[in-house]
Amino acid sequence: MISEFNRFFKSKSLASTYKPTLVKCLLDLADYTSDEGNQWVKQKGDTYTVDLHFIAARFLRYYHPLRFKFKLKQEATKKRIAIYSILEEYEEQLGIKSTPSKKIMCSEKFSEIREKTIINGAIRQQVLPKLRNDCNIYTINSGSKSIQIKKEIIDFMRDNKKLLESALNHMIAEYLEKCNSSPNISTKLEEKISRTTLTKDKFQKMINMQNSCCFYCGNKGDSFAQEHFLPWNFLFQTENYNIIAACQTCNSSKNDKLPHGKYLNKIIKRNQSLDDLPMGYSEEFMKNMYENCRLEYHGRDKTLWQNV
Ligand SMILES: [Zn+2]
Repeated sequence: MISEFNRFFKSKSLASTYKPTLVKCLLDLADYTSDEGNQWVKQKGDTYTVDLHFIAARFLRYYHPLRFKFKLKQEATKKRIAIYSILEEYEEQLGIKSTPSKKIMCSEKFSEIREKTIINGAIRQQVLPKLRNDCNIYTINSGSKSIQIKKEIIDFMRDNKKLLESALNHMIAEYLEKCNSSPNISTKLEEKISRTTLTKDKFQKMINMQNSCCFYCGNKGDSFAQEHFLPWNFLFQTENYNIIAACQTCNSSKNDKLPHGKYLNKIIKRNQSLDDLPMGYSEEFMKNMYENCRLEYHGRDKTLWQNV
């Protein structure tokens, strides 16, 4: 059994992130809660039968933030993968501001989207049979509406969940790094990462450097937000070179947009006076990050944000 996982992790050439994501969905069999699709898992002796809706709900759950929150491409070309097309088709129903929980993805409301994911999202015809060639841990039932998986495999996944999860995320990140220049992809694949902030002292220093004026509009104030210049969901890290003090109005108006180039010059200049920049920071680095964010996250043709 371990050798099947080994074989999978050794397989070099991924054609997409589908296979490792599917294994990630199966890993969930180790400890799902009762409202996350237990109606689709039936145990008989030492064999579990798992309806494909269990997998589809998780497939949607894992790809949703990659498409809407982090805007990561899944192909080096402009080609769109099937699961992204489905997510886009149901964008309104799913919502794009926050990622629906597994519980919600398993609800009746989304049965049509799950069905589509199983059929058009290539799970039934392609991913399941192909993955089985690399990682023989389940059998596909006739009619292809469910799979069978042995209890010992689920037990193994439960005992090694953290390890398997990191190995799978590593595999997915490695693939995504080939098609995106977005930073911190492996962190983006981990769940429950909370937004960090600069310490009070460090931030107060910044406010003083700005003479208690908003970085964008220049208005004087006494309450400032820690503003991520390059959007948080792009950088996914709090670094002093990317934090500025902004008034509440500018902060909420800018939101996750990319600021106009005139502010880029301003922040580069500001950063020259920071004394604890991380290693690897340079003007060139900041310009590259900004350009990558514009092309891959903000949108090439979208208007850049500015205070008016
Ligand atoms: Zn302002």
